[in-house]
Amino acid sequence: MKLIDCPKAFATDEMCLAYLEAKRWPHGVRCPVCGAKEISTITRTVDETKTRKEKKQNKRKQLYQCLEPTCKQQFSATSGTIFHDSHLPLSKWFMAVALMIDAKKGMSAAQLQRHLGVNYRTAWYLCHRIREAMNEPDGLKLTGTVEIDETYIGGKQRGHKGKLKNKDVVLGIRQRGGPLKLVQIVDNKAGTLYDAVAEHVDKNADHIVTDDAGAYNFRLTQFRNVPHSKIRHSAGEYVKGEVHTNTVENAFSLLKRAVIGTYHQLSIKHLQRYLNEFSYRFNRRETLDMFEQTVARMTGIDAMPYSKLVEQNAFTPFVRPAPKTSEPF
Ligand SMILES: [Zn+2]
Repeated sequence: MKLIDCPKAFATDEMCLAYLEAKRWPHGVRCPVCGAKEISTITRTVDETKTRKEKKQNKRKQLYQCLEPTCKQQFSATSGTIFHDSHLPLSKWFMAVALMIDAKKGMSAAQLQRHLGVNYRTAWYLCHRIREAMNEPDGLKLTGTVEIDETYIGGKQRGHKGKLKNKDVVLGIRQRGGPLKLVQIVDNKAGTLYDAVAEHVDKNADHIVTDDAGAYNFRLTQFRNVPHSKIRHSAGEYVKGEVHTNTVENAFSLLKRAVIGTYHQLSIKHLQRYLNEFSYRFNRRETLDMFEQTVARMTGIDAMPYSKLVEQNAFTPFVRPAPKTSEPF
């Protein structure tokens, strides 16, 4: 799926719905409530003279009905998914997905607003719901040679590592030749770093490489048997044979260009979501079916009401507990 083909391939709601159906039920349509395979099709004529609100209540032209007598659920491919209850045409959803996965440095809500001709709030809400699908599977642990480093985003004291005021710490963990994970953490203390590493790194990894910050100390942890090399950044040392953190640093520099170039202001409350989006795209930069994969994931995600998204501030255990307003950087 190339960006240029998207408007043609998904011109109408029916085309989009057929695509969603194939992604959601590759082995045939099933009732999402009871799992029954016996279903009937209901085709409705949408009365164009009705108001938008009336149409919204009865919006899909084609519906399924479960034939299980105790169930009788009516549903479509969007029922119970992240697309549920959206008043936005599916063609705009699909265009937004295509634009977001194509934008290596990310796509801001303002850019999406212009491309789709929708208002800012709609664009912002849409980006966040798509971003919800741009996430590595739970429990994915990195292994082999694992590079770990931290970077600081935001704030005015950039360049002074000792001062964390107004800055957010992002831990980058990258399996050399493999996936990247970016984790927002509350500070750069040993315990915080260890918790994030324990969650994202396999305890049987071959080799851990970090800089020489004292906070990276795994001797008394589940990683005690994993060789740990430290590159002495404090002494101006950057590469010593296989011992370097260059591949994670390369990802950081791309992240910083994305964050500075695209988002300008980034709500700290949602930082982990942006990090997930970035690493999702980064990890699939050579994948040809990223569009298909992303849409398929979206059919497996529950609806996310706007109110929940706005209130949510505990996306991961590593996000600082108190909500903050967005900060320029
Ligand atoms: Zn059913």
